[in-house]
Amino acid sequence: MIMDLIFFGMQGSGKGTLGKAVAEKYGLEIFETGAELRKLAQEDSELGRKIKKIIDAGELVSDEVIMEIVENFINNLEAGKAALFDGIPRKIEQAKLLNTLLKKHDRKFAGVLLEISEETALRRLTTRRICKNCKEVYPANYENDKCKCGGELITRSDDVPESIKKRIETFKEKTVPAMTLYKDHFLTIDGEPQIEEVQKSALKALDTMLQA
Ligand code: AMP
Repeated sequence: MIMDLIFFGMQGSGKGTLGKAVAEKYGLEIFETGAELRKLAQEDSELGRKIKKIIDAGELVSDEVIMEIVENFINNLEAGKAALFDGIPRKIEQAKLLNTLLKKHDRKFAGVLLEISEETALRRLTTRRICKNCKEVYPANYENDKCKCGGELITRSDDVPESIKKRIETFKEKTVPAMTLYKDHFLTIDGEPQIEEVQKSALKALDTMLQA
């Protein structure tokens, strides 16, 4: 069955990396909320500066801004193409707004959680680097100084202790309750093992779910 997947996972769970593999296998179009916002944050406008400040503080951007960009994404989706939502919803209000929007467009959807402990999240976030160019994420054990594309590897501006703490708190307090809205169609994947193993078990579980 073709359906949209709504990816959940504490920061550092690897949902961006897994999302890419899943999207490639099933032909899904990815909507990465954080990446869309970081693009807006680079704009030299009042909205751009406001968004940058919120992101760097590890706080949440307003629902109005989020819903506007997600609605725009859905309106521009190719007919018959399913979507993979990464980074939305972050709280119950957004989950309600997103579900209403998806139902309005006659879309079917399921939630997927990539589960890790808080210790793992902290460890991964304080040591990961991203490519300045293509935004690919690299874990601490990546040995090169440069990205595969040749770009410089840097620390994300919000991967600093205060902001990391705030984002993990928000996940526990706001995003976890939002997941309950998807409990009828929900898949939990263990995100602790090595990436290859996580991908293998995730794709197997998704095969079963999507073929049901
Ligand atoms: P991420 O790349 O998913 O870690 O998101 C980076 C930052 O973008 C978050 O810390 C928030 O400031 C903002 N953000 C991402 N998704 C949302 C959302 N659904 N609602 C509000 N703010 C968001």
